[in-house]
Amino acid sequence: MNKSWIDISVPLYTGMVNWPGDPAVSILPVKEIASGGSSNVSEISMGAHTGTHMDAPRHFFTEGRGLDTMPLEATIGPARVIAIRDRNAIKAEELRGHRIRKGERILFKTHGSAVRWRRREFDRNYVYVSPEAARYLALRGVRTVGVDYLSVGGYKKDGAETHRALLGAGVWIIEGLNLSAVEPGRYDLICLPLRILNADGAPARAVLRRRG
Ligand SMILES: [Zn+2]
Repeated sequence: MNKSWIDISVPLYTGMVNWPGDPAVSILPVKEIASGGSSNVSEISMGAHTGTHMDAPRHFFTEGRGLDTMPLEATIGPARVIAIRDRNAIKAEELRGHRIRKGERILFKTHGSAVRWRRREFDRNYVYVSPEAARYLALRGVRTVGVDYLSVGGYKKDGAETHRALLGAGVWIIEGLNLSAVEPGRYDLICLPLRILNADGAPARAVLRRRG
């Protein structure tokens, strides 16, 4: 069995897909050796919820904590990748069969996400966490939830309700994962968002390694 670390974050590049209405991603050289500069330096401009990133409670609660205060245990440790059969949404009914336990870190691998990441246009038909499933996960006491497109909530479909149910219960959220090279099962997870003070969101690098 392959025990090497697998990168499950997406590369950031100018013009990549982003959430509709959020700032576009632009990574441009401001100094270049090729143009006579002493070094290469880029300027990065993008929204805090770009590519593989995390959401903090502050994303949906004005007084909520920022990502800089996230306990590192939220995203470093054992994690489970669950494949979702439903092609529309992650529903509580399907989750009940997976015996989700308190303190788990759960990443959802959904239908079609590998294809979705290859497109530059935003795909509104991604598989999202229904508000009912979000409340179920919160009730189970899950520590962290990860999804493989740009939001845990649906596009113009209860997105705020899903976020509030998770973030309000202290569940940390990873969004924008690429799980196409990963089979369902048990892994070690390391996902570290940038330590931006009071951040509502922050880009993250995320990796998995097979356990057992
Ligand atoms: Zn979000």
